[in-house]
Amino acid sequence: MFESLEMTHPDPILTLSEHFMNDTNPRKVDLGIGLYKDKYGDTPVMESVRIAESFVVDSAMDKIYKGSSGLDGFCDVISWLLFRERSSLIENGRVLSIQTIGGTGAVRLAAEFLKQIDPDKGVWVSDPTWGNHIDIFLHLGMKVSCYPYQSGGGGLNFPIMLESIRKIPEGDVIILHGCGHNPTGYDLSKCQWHAVLEVVKERGLFPVIDMAYHGLANGLCDDIYCVELFSDHLDEMFVAYSCSKNFGLYRDRVGALVVLGKNRDSCVKAKLHLSRLARVSISSPAIHGALIVSEILSSPELNRVWVEELSRMSLRVKFARGMLIKEACKQGCDDAFRNVSNGVGLFSLIPVGREDVDVLREEFCIYMLDSGRINLSGVNDDNVGYIVSSIKALLGK
Ligand code: PMP
Repeated sequence: MFESLEMTHPDPILTLSEHFMNDTNPRKVDLGIGLYKDKYGDTPVMESVRIAESFVVDSAMDKIYKGSSGLDGFCDVISWLLFRERSSLIENGRVLSIQTIGGTGAVRLAAEFLKQIDPDKGVWVSDPTWGNHIDIFLHLGMKVSCYPYQSGGGGLNFPIMLESIRKIPEGDVIILHGCGHNPTGYDLSKCQWHAVLEVVKERGLFPVIDMAYHGLANGLCDDIYCVELFSDHLDEMFVAYSCSKNFGLYRDRVGALVVLGKNRDSCVKAKLHLSRLARVSISSPAIHGALIVSEILSSPELNRVWVEELSRMSLRVKFARGMLIKEACKQGCDDAFRNVSNGVGLFSLIPVGREDVDVLREEFCIYMLDSGRINLSGVNDDNVGYIVSSIKALLGK
């Protein structure tokens, strides 16, 4: 049976990481996979996580199944994290969360739910976007189209973006990056979010806000501006929340699909359907990481430790951005790093072609995605000069 399969390719991001691990050159630089790295290039377990995890392990009485919607305590703290300033929405039963396998699981569950409601619904993603947005919806047989976001490798082209969104057929689904846009690092200003909201209302679009970098762009409060704004003016939306980056729980696979509904009844109904969809795909989610997050967010002391750690991480990424730009200016090639100066969060796109990326990897041992996306947290004092001089040498060729 397997002989009849067509050849397919392994995931490029995960493969890139493997190649990096196997590279023996001491100068190698990893700007590829989206992990937060400290100034030593490590991704250590966060202190708040370490403390919460040891408590979780020591106090475990059993490891019995939880329901398909996951750990109630976790769902509640995630709803609260996003909607604490809109607590009446929670009190009125208009917000409910369901635990998922990371942010990917949240997008996937959202996709299955939306397909169940209307398989012909169009889905609109930014161009460019995180590749899995496209793959997940396509895999389910939905029609995926793009609205322009970054024009010609340059800055955010907001007027064109807005114009295109205005042409999306009524009732379609729009995927928006809540903060730390992957891969461009360009986030919308508050004013631009208002303009998008107006068009979303006008066209009756259903927003799925992907929130994979909460706290790592402009801080915990500012990063959820669009979630709060949209919840003030819309009846319904989804937020696909990931705890991978901001809790450093990558492989524990913790996330949530947060539902905003018109009223308590419709939210309960939506949650029941989502739970059924979860039941037939994963039965019930893994609880360990969710217990850790729930412990951190419900203990004032641990919460304080986590907030401080996260803000240090976010500052370090900002610092790495600044360092790269400064070095580029020093070496007289700031033009190649123009996008870096305007972005926030972990990522930026640099204007290199597919072949340049291969040369950077093969000749310079600098690893980045084929699109030219770099992870800024991979930049540090030791490698910044080498990164800039290598890219300069390549582009000057
Ligand atoms: N959305 C975006 C935009 C992402 O960049 C990522 C992670 N790369 C995810 C969702 C999924 O994250 P997780 O690892 O939690 O599945």
